[in-house]
Amino acid sequence: MNLFLHICCAPCTTFPLAQLRLKGIAVYGYFYNPNIHPYREFKKRIQGVQQLAEISDLKVEIDNTYGLTEYLRKVVFHEQQRCPLCYAMRLEVVVQKAKEREYEAFSTTLLYSKYQDHERIRNIGEKLAIQYDIDFYYEDFREGWKEGIEQAIAMDLYRQSYCGCIYSEQERYDKAFKKYAEKIKL
Ligand code: SF4
Repeated sequence: MNLFLHICCAPCTTFPLAQLRLKGIAVYGYFYNPNIHPYREFKKRIQGVQQLAEISDLKVEIDNTYGLTEYLRKVVFHEQQRCPLCYAMRLEVVVQKAKEREYEAFSTTLLYSKYQDHERIRNIGEKLAIQYDIDFYYEDFREGWKEGIEQAIAMDLYRQSYCGCIYSEQERYDKAFKKYAEKIKL
């Protein structure tokens, strides 16, 4: 099978990539993440993916466009739903490209993270697969959480401390905001 794999960041790619290759799946990576802010963080994560691509001999297309405006236009006034909107906005672009380029399936490294809404991501991927008539490759990559971290450390990859958007950055570092966000389920 040839697979178009959405890459959210380098550390989340190590384990899924190794697993997929073990199964004989040909992987082509695609970095598309308008949700990563601010600009210098976005660039750091791209560098991490380039480093991983070189070490792992992985072909990756990188969308260098800094998508702050695009992302905010999707989520402002819908902040409580921002993660599902964020998954969908990325996966919709991924599935369209996979279909145009005639890949057999698409998937995402978001399925590796313990911090994401795994079932929601799976659900969005499966719905898009039906809509675009292409397979969504599902695997619970969270099983390799520890192994993936060890691989990322061994490769000396940049490991971020927050998910990506400016909201998640504030939740990570602003304790008062974190409490407020938890209270209103932001
Ligand atoms: S916390 Fe992560 S998944 Fe949720 S909106 Fe922000 S960047 Fe996207």
